[in-house]
Amino acid sequence: MISNALSVIYISEGEFSVSDYDYDLFVIGAGSGGVRAARIAAAYGARVAICEESRVGGTCVIRGCVPKKLFSYAAHFAEEFEDAAGYGWKVGPSSFSWKRLIENKDHEIDRLNKIYLRLLSDANVKLYPVHGKLVDSHHVQLGEDIVGAEKILIATGGWPWMPEIPGSEHVFSSNEAFHLQELPRRMVIVGGGYIACEFAGIFNGLGVEVVQVYRGEQILRGFDDDVRTSLAREMSTKGIQICLHRNVTKVTRDADGGLDVELDDATVLRTDAVMSATGRVPNVRKLGLEAAGVHVQAGGAIAVNEYSVTNVPHIFAVGDVTNRVNLTPVALMEGHAFADTEFGDKPSPVNHDFIPSAVFTHPQIATVGYSEKDAASHFGRLEIFRSEFTPLKHTLSGREEKTMMKLIVQAATDKVVGLHVVGMDAAEIVQGFAIALKSGLTKQQFDCTTGIHPTAAEELVTMRTAVQG
Ligand code: NDP
Repeated sequence: MISNALSVIYISEGEFSVSDYDYDLFVIGAGSGGVRAARIAAAYGARVAICEESRVGGTCVIRGCVPKKLFSYAAHFAEEFEDAAGYGWKVGPSSFSWKRLIENKDHEIDRLNKIYLRLLSDANVKLYPVHGKLVDSHHVQLGEDIVGAEKILIATGGWPWMPEIPGSEHVFSSNEAFHLQELPRRMVIVGGGYIACEFAGIFNGLGVEVVQVYRGEQILRGFDDDVRTSLAREMSTKGIQICLHRNVTKVTRDADGGLDVELDDATVLRTDAVMSATGRVPNVRKLGLEAAGVHVQAGGAIAVNEYSVTNVPHIFAVGDVTNRVNLTPVALMEGHAFADTEFGDKPSPVNHDFIPSAVFTHPQIATVGYSEKDAASHFGRLEIFRSEFTPLKHTLSGREEKTMMKLIVQAATDKVVGLHVVGMDAAEIVQGFAIALKSGLTKQQFDCTTGIHPTAAEELVTMRTAVQG
């Protein structure tokens, strides 16, 4: 039944009264952005409901960041056991159980999923565990029911995209990588982005022979060139075979039950599993956007302004479905800002400048601000500081793994506009430095900050001689 859509009475600008719809806010998609927005709006007194066709928690919790990082920890142990020898440890024979890892990871995801469910119920947000489809700009179909809402927020995230090639049925995405029945002996990973590089490191660390096939000239397009080359070198040293300038044209099952992966130079790679990490697309399938009059951009992303408003003034969108910066903390920020603006009388435009991010490769990458190439086109003359060194830990472990750190400084203002780290603990290091870049601090302010010794991070406040500029 469609509830009667009477007009909302505004008390004053920015405040709201209870509307005659079923809800003041209906959120489609209970991932990071949707849940945050629902909870904050409810805390402001709004009557809020949310729907989710999969499990509450979204990509990050269920099939993304969290299980991926757990896998990455698992993969690191192989090197830890080896590194221990240099410190006098004799580690006995080790073995790895993929089944145990999957079970324990699933258990943790169940726990997080329950926390998310409790957060919603504690906030008095009504959950509809079904697909939601807009039937018009104020109503959402939920199975047999239709509910009305004064405002609607779309937070449906993204979904893996894979090119159609002969044999696509043998290829899986990151979604399935979290549930493989067995750990393959050999694997081909297609793509050169975040997910391909992270999973290449994970499976390689777990003992799988990994070949990464990428169509471009170097992995991680868009990252700083020094970061790309440093990481590619480290990944190769660890045994990942990176095949550049290649596309996969065909996958066939061979007589032994293995897979033959044909590349566009006629090479055939024999493998046991093929994973595609060739990008993600906004999840707008069967959402009824046309019925509600919501515009999408080329590629399917919902077009929004800095307040996450779509072309329909009472329909909003946050997170990966808008394809702005596709990261969990960004979706959280956008969801929170939306709720503050619409229900908390605190207009909060989202600012996407200087968002730090990490790629949980082996070793990690973390970065905030501009690559050297992008900085050159935005900030004119630059001073570049770069350092590459063996981290202290590896003096005794004997591991051949370098850490690379780089600062990019605008010469005219002395502001640090790019900071990049490839190496152990990069993500933990860069989180703190992101505050400095976001605050517009100068190289001189970096220089007068005391280092913590002995750490790798101290290098970022002790680099004195520009390698260029
Ligand atoms: P990315 O966009 O990072 O990478 C996609 C890769 O696939 C690129 O190397 C791209 O090549 C390649 N590709 C695209 N189309 C084709 C094609 N037709 N044939 C062959 N190769 C192709 O996407 P991901 O799937 O890796 O990740 C999606 C997003 O998820 C990321 O952009 C990131 O925002 C987020 N994410 C963040 C993580 C983190 O914060 N640690 C972890 C995982 C994901 P090309 O470069 O030439 O376009």
